[in-house]
Amino acid sequence: MTDINRRNALHTAATMTVGAAVGTITASCATTGPSPKTPFAVNGTYIAMANSDMVFPVRRIYCIGRNYRAHSIEMGSNPDREPPFFFQKPTDAIQLVPPGETVDHPYPTLTKNYHYEVELVAALAKGGRNVTSDQALELVYAYTVGLDMTRRDLQRAMGDEKKPWEIGKSFDRSAVLGPLQPSAKVGHFTQGAIWLKVNGQTKQNANLNQMIWNVAEQIANLSRAFELMPGDIIYSGTPENVGPVVKGDVMDAHIDGLPDIRVKVV
Ligand code: MN
Repeated sequence: MTDINRRNALHTAATMTVGAAVGTITASCATTGPSPKTPFAVNGTYIAMANSDMVFPVRRIYCIGRNYRAHSIEMGSNPDREPPFFFQKPTDAIQLVPPGETVDHPYPTLTKNYHYEVELVAALAKGGRNVTSDQALELVYAYTVGLDMTRRDLQRAMGDEKKPWEIGKSFDRSAVLGPLQPSAKVGHFTQGAIWLKVNGQTKQNANLNQMIWNVAEQIANLSRAFELMPGDIIYSGTPENVGPVVKGDVMDAHIDGLPDIRVKVV
């Protein structure tokens, strides 16, 4: 056993039980100690935080699929309230978009049908297992506007062959988002407009209250499948009218109460 493995194995996260509730919320689980010697450096992934000199360290990116009724139908699914399903993107797929800037977003390889999906993103500062939906928002540290960029042709082709979506969803810069806005300041989001424009023309336009599973319910469900940890972020699903962009298109993404983000496909 290496020193690092031993340290991780010995490490016990501080847990606290909230009230008489079923779940446990993990307050902190950072592994501390001197940096190990490595043959090369691998960058960590961090998201800027609004009005702060601190950055948010990203552990995992979870995404929820088909969480708006009309989008579920357009993807060929049954929109009834089935349990939510999840997939992940690698943390280094994040592309940060500061508000007020137009950030170049390279058109990815392999696809001929590159789609936007505007989504509310929740960032967790606490983790837990079997968290109840009543407790769940205690985990949420911040929110932002995100784009779950998708190589739709590849996603569909893999789905048709009953293979994983990976190549359609989990590629470089596929997780676009703005700086995190602390929930202590902006509150929690159960309603409000969510829209996306391409070249000034409205493409997606819905309300967060149309989510089949709200953020609290998403966290509760996720925490039954995975132990959530500080640093996890959740893309909460996109409304209907997803569609393609090509090089030169400018996308504006909006959620009421959060700064817009703007991206140019290059
Ligand atoms: Mn999505």
